[in-house]
Amino acid sequence: MPAPATAQPATVSVLGLGLMGTALAAALLGAGHTVTVWNRNPARTGPLVAQGAHPAATPAAAVAASDLVIVCLLDNGAVRDVFDGLGDSVAHRTVANLTNGTPAQARELAAWATERGARYLDGGIMAVPQMIAGPHAYVLYSGDEDAFRAHRSTFAALGDTRFVGADPGLAAVHDVALLTGMYGMTVGVMQAFALARTENIPAAELAGPLVEWIGAMLAGTPEEAAAIDSGKHLTDVSSLTANQAALPNLMETFRDQGLSTAFFEPLRELLDRAVEQGHGTDGLSRLATLLEK
Ligand code: NAP
Repeated sequence: MPAPATAQPATVSVLGLGLMGTALAAALLGAGHTVTVWNRNPARTGPLVAQGAHPAATPAAAVAASDLVIVCLLDNGAVRDVFDGLGDSVAHRTVANLTNGTPAQARELAAWATERGARYLDGGIMAVPQMIAGPHAYVLYSGDEDAFRAHRSTFAALGDTRFVGADPGLAAVHDVALLTGMYGMTVGVMQAFALARTENIPAAELAGPLVEWIGAMLAGTPEEAAAIDSGKHLTDVSSLTANQAALPNLMETFRDQGLSTAFFEPLRELLDRAVEQGHGTDGLSRLATLLEK
């Protein structure tokens, strides 16, 4: 969803000044907004106050200071602890909780906020702190769409704004899906580096080829998605039978090099099950349909 080119100065409170909350508050200050900040350890407010932020002594004072309250704590257990101390101060406020969490937690927090007369948005930040306010950062939002529209130009200070639905759990669903893809890639890359180390191949030597190869493979993601959505998993690229035959070579190599093969076990189990069920001529897209318990 494209953001308006310019934003009217807004009043915003930020609860939580860890690495990410600090980056969010700094971006809001940089965009010219009036920012009130609160952190459990008050020492962390110092650098932002030096940049023009107003420190709040309590979460309730921070909430009282602004129409829009952005929350970014370690996890939703911490959010719940802080919310429980807010009393009625959240009434008529928009609370945008950008803390990483589960869809169920988001729905529960939305119900909590709505019962107290607040408008609730849940969010997933698709960036590291250094990317905030830069061209590649974006934040997923779900929940109260009117509240999202009302504050979208303020959210735009953080990165691109992507509203994914009125169900408050949907941002977390998208967030968890994207993080799952990221962790799968990251763990695979670390396994590759571990293997290279056993032959004294510098990680730097493998970095370029990994980027090139994974990028080429990722380019096929839309075709995989189309196969999953249509249920037509037949492939002329790489069959599950061929992948099932190749996987033992990867595992044997790791074993021979004195490395754990644990990384490959879930894939082996899925491939074996898929072929056993008669899907051997299907492509890897079939695996997405075999995870349901
Ligand atoms: P962080 O640097 O560890 O900061 C954690 C924050 O949570 C601190 O402000 C901490 O306060 C506060 N906190 C923890 N427990 C608390 C409690 N019981 N009550 C009140 N405050 C509490 O973490 P972060 O990197 O900023 O991450 C914050 C959120 O953003 C997480 O949900 C994370 O998954 C998400 N996120 C982070 C990144 C990233 O790259 N860093 C990217 C996307 C999303 P104190 O200072 O008092 O300890």
